[in-house]
Amino acid sequence: MDKGADFAGEIKATFKNNVFSCGEYALFYYDHESPLNPELMAAYDAAIIDARDVQQAKILIRRIRSSYNIEVFLKPVFLINYKNHFDNILTELTDGTLLSFEQITEKVNDIRNIKKLISQLDKSESKSFEVQVFKKVIDYLYTREERTLAPIPDANSFIGFTYPVVSVNFEPFEEFMVLDILDWALSQDYIWPDYFDRIYLCNQCKSAHVSMRETCPSCQSSQLKPEDLVHHFSCGYIGPISDFKNKIDGTLSCPKCSKNLRHIGVDYDKPSLINQCLDCNEIFQDYKVKARCLHCKNDIEVQYLLAKDINLYKLTKKGRNAAIAGISEGDIELENSVLNTVNFKTFATILHYERQRMKTNPALKSCFAVIILDNIHEIYKNIGKNNERALLVDIAQIMRDNITPADIISFQNNTTICINVNDEELVIAEQVIVRAINKLKDLVANNFNNFDLKAKHRIESVRIDKQFETQFKEITKQLAQQ
Ligand SMILES: [Zn+2]
Ligand SMILES: [Zn+2]
Ligand SMILES: [Zn+2]
Repeated sequence: MDKGADFAGEIKATFKNNVFSCGEYALFYYDHESPLNPELMAAYDAAIIDARDVQQAKILIRRIRSSYNIEVFLKPVFLINYKNHFDNILTELTDGTLLSFEQITEKVNDIRNIKKLISQLDKSESKSFEVQVFKKVIDYLYTREERTLAPIPDANSFIGFTYPVVSVNFEPFEEFMVLDILDWALSQDYIWPDYFDRIYLCNQCKSAHVSMRETCPSCQSSQLKPEDLVHHFSCGYIGPISDFKNKIDGTLSCPKCSKNLRHIGVDYDKPSLINQCLDCNEIFQDYKVKARCLHCKNDIEVQYLLAKDINLYKLTKKGRNAAIAGISEGDIELENSVLNTVNFKTFATILHYERQRMKTNPALKSCFAVIILDNIHEIYKNIGKNNERALLVDIAQIMRDNITPADIISFQNNTTICINVNDEELVIAEQVIVRAINKLKDLVANNFNNFDLKAKHRIESVRIDKQFETQFKEITKQLAQQ
């Protein structure tokens, strides 16, 4: 195929063997006859996908975006002939639409900008799976100057929602792993959640495709007949409406006192519904709601479904920075590794008991501080993994020197420190923490070329009316947004 096209405008685009040449760039055109080989992309600057067949276009974009080759998955991709079947997921995974081939020249700046941003990325290899996938996600967002991961309701997704940029890395039946990755990123402060919706998953295969029915509590049958319950005021008789109904004319008369029932609300009412099981004839008021998984056929009571929040996520400053600074694998191994500190789970447990103690004795005082070292990544990036651990030990030591032995320190990750200060007024505790932070800034400035460490902190009394985790989340969210 050779169209030999030549377009007007300052930059000319020419077409030969499925490749548009436009200025310094070569764009591969995927029509329906092109081989579906995403690795082909590495050789070109961008791609144009013919989206007349949306499903075909989706298969192709999935192959490109799910590649682990940075030369492939970040490629600018434009759609053409994309009019009739608009698809949110396809749109989210591509970089815009061409109304005609003449518009190729207008995309040159987009290609140049994405290439420039790609050149700024940290390209070090990661070992762990979470880090690999999440790094791909933030690389994509960074090069597209995006900051949010929004869930899209999707019947093709095993969990009923898809986060295109994350989900593209998983087969549909693995989609719950998308939530695991996002949970991990949240625990490491790379993203912040805004509640969007809640889903209920099969507790065996984690599918959201379940069919709910009301069932009989004794034989589990879903073949139920609901009936109004009727209460006759004057004699007090209560029974299903069928006991009152005259078989011939459908009028109501009381089976106990034989009076006719005239006006609802005046001489009788319908206090509730009653159910009859047509399989075992059992009569009952409360049915059980059961959910049958359409994938693994598991049939469970709804209270045993796995409830998960579906959030809209925004990158934190740390998350945005990680695209160019890299993700520290140390974040994952941090627990328990720094002397004189406790891991974050233990810290949360201690604070939980602290709260119980305060409930029984209101005179007790206890506060906790959260300190975020906002730009310490820049140092981590330069000093390497071994020295990072050593620096964390020094940070813990400085904090330790400035508080009393009964106070507890924990690193939630390599940028977030939590300190529990006991038996001090909040004002005094605040002074203690500010002093410790200033000592820390001095240490950093003295050892790293006058590096100006930015530390944000907040200290609060332990709240009796709130779970520690809730209070902690609120504080870190406030700090992250500062
Ligand atoms: Zn039954
Ligand atoms: Zn009666
Ligand atoms: Zn299932």
